[in-house]
Amino acid sequence: MRLATLIPTRGVNRAGVRQAAPNMCRGARMGNNTHDSRVCPERTRRAPILIVGSLALDEVETPFGSVSEMPGGAALYAALAASLFAPVKLLGAVGKDFPAKILDQLRARGVDLEGLEIREGKTFRWRARYEYDMGQARTLSTELGVFDGFHPKLPDSYRGTPFLFLANIDPDLQLEVLDAAGHTSLAACDTNAFWIEGKREKVVKVLGRCNMALLNDAEVRQLCGKSNIVAAASALLKMGPSWAVVKKGEHGALLFGADAAFAAPAYPMEDVVDPTGAGDSFAGALLGYLASCGEFSQESLRRAVVCGSLVASFVVERFGPERLLSLSPQEVTTRYNEFLRLTHFTPI
Ligand code: AMP
Repeated sequence: MRLATLIPTRGVNRAGVRQAAPNMCRGARMGNNTHDSRVCPERTRRAPILIVGSLALDEVETPFGSVSEMPGGAALYAALAASLFAPVKLLGAVGKDFPAKILDQLRARGVDLEGLEIREGKTFRWRARYEYDMGQARTLSTELGVFDGFHPKLPDSYRGTPFLFLANIDPDLQLEVLDAAGHTSLAACDTNAFWIEGKREKVVKVLGRCNMALLNDAEVRQLCGKSNIVAAASALLKMGPSWAVVKKGEHGALLFGADAAFAAPAYPMEDVVDPTGAGDSFAGALLGYLASCGEFSQESLRRAVVCGSLVASFVVERFGPERLLSLSPQEVTTRYNEFLRLTHFTPI
């Protein structure tokens, strides 16, 4: 069954009025192709986003196959996703064993790598397994490699970048980046079970300095010690952020603020082969979209959550970052329009 064939072809919003997808650099070519700034001249005016986090070589097993030495890491997925919408500055470290081809592909998409250190030693490694429900990865091992004892050096050109995303990495390192980054319009963070278990106090400290937290449902439950997601998100907001985004995999995402909430279903996918990086891509696309529209209204936050959800829906179609590397803004726009029609309903 092809979902697209079941979706009505006319775009309608809740009032029955035709609605367009947000302007997303229509026609720009990405992925293996060099980014052509001519087809997207306004892109240079979009607010840049500084992303720090893991860059990794992953070994992943799902019921549909397995891969090893797969380039990954939270910052790689987030940077590729965000670069569909806004200019990205990447901060992090890899070992000499990290494939140069991926760095070339990042550069080709306009990602600034001045803050990426290529260090002696091994790239961060993560081994994980997914069972049939694909909801949660079971981490088998985490090797810090070049991140062990790493202290990020922020290039001068990175200071004062308006958007900051502290993707998943040691919270001590996230705090160092917060100290060095200077003034930001929006600072957002992610983490995972490994750091919540090992460095909970530091994770809470990071959250206290961010405007937005983007965690998955299991992480919010673990961090806040509550099984109910609404109660856990409310506890999360008390830690500091104005916005808490709870990623729920195939069940969509929830956005909570002091006096607002939004629920977005996930785009229903028939072929999910590997969920690795979906959460990081969700966050990168959400923040990239916000950076591209330059305002934080309720409406733009809602569209940003949907953009995050849709970019993540592409990522799970292939192992690792393969699908993200070939994804174009036009494909995101097309799926956005399908999603508008899919979620349309009228008042009773
Ligand atoms: P996600 O599927 O969105 O949860 O993220 C998976 C990515 O996060 C993989 O590419 C891993 O390399 C990376 N990752 C896994 N564990 C950690 C960790 N403890 N710190 C930083 N990155 C991690």
